[in-house]
Amino acid sequence: MRIIETADEMRAWAYARRAEGNWIGFVPTMGALHEGHASLMRASVEQNDVSVLSIFVNPTQFAPHEDYNRYPRTFEADCELAERIGIDAVYAPRVERMYPPNYATYVEVRRLTEGLCGRSRPTHFRCVTTVVTKLFHAVCPHRAYFGQKDAQQAAVIRRMTRDLDFGIEIVVLPIVREPDGLAMSSRNVYLSAEERARALCLSRGLLEAQRLLESGERRVDAIVDAVRNAMSGVQIDYIELVDADEMQPVSEIRGRVLLAVAAYVGQTRLIDNIMFDAESGIVT
Ligand code: AMP
Repeated sequence: MRIIETADEMRAWAYARRAEGNWIGFVPTMGALHEGHASLMRASVEQNDVSVLSIFVNPTQFAPHEDYNRYPRTFEADCELAERIGIDAVYAPRVERMYPPNYATYVEVRRLTEGLCGRSRPTHFRCVTTVVTKLFHAVCPHRAYFGQKDAQQAAVIRRMTRDLDFGIEIVVLPIVREPDGLAMSSRNVYLSAEERARALCLSRGLLEAQRLLESGERRVDAIVDAVRNAMSGVQIDYIELVDADEMQPVSEIRGRVLLAVAAYVGQTRLIDNIMFDAESGIVT
């Protein structure tokens, strides 16, 4: 498995693989890998001829008061896991090379980025779309893999890829959970045992919403109230039902809707969601 640090070397490797007729799968991450990341890597290895994992903790997408400095970094273990799964190259660029002096260029997706996490993290998504664009330009993938865990991010990347003609297929895979339901996240390591127990109310609230939706409840307020009741032990950032494509709040449940939650458990901000297809009645 190759470890590559510069965009030029990454692109040269990708062009050579493409010239050999290979399809390139790509899994962008911030490292501190867990089973959620592993599911994306396995899918990429299965569905493509070669696969690239990127590990880059992107400083710009963290606000000054957020956890950039203490974000977990486990590079060696991440590379071992990637190699075991069959990843062919790890792209791990350095911050100074990603953002040279006088860096001035950003990619902005409007509307979809304004609500949900965009409200409490107003500069977050333009930094995500910018860094993903840079990673795409270096890795030159045919397919890129994202998790439903970050549902708004996946919708934003899908829109950017379409609007700007990137010609990359975006594959979004289901949330991987701990046995008790907690959505896996690199940030779960911040939780004390007591906080870890309290954090369960996010997935429990969503499970309760799923039960209501599956039994035919279609009132937005009733769904949101049920989740809010379940989440009384944590500091809620938002509980919202939005349409799955535009990420806009809905007043009635039709088509595909996303029920998304964000909350602080102590100092740690956690997110989780379920998707509901009102046509089929199926929750994912
Ligand atoms: P991150 O390293 O947190 O930026 O995540 C990298 C990718 O892994 C993103 O596409 C995430 O949505 C995805 N991911 C993170 N946690 C999970 C999870 N529990 N299940 C599935 N995908 C996940």
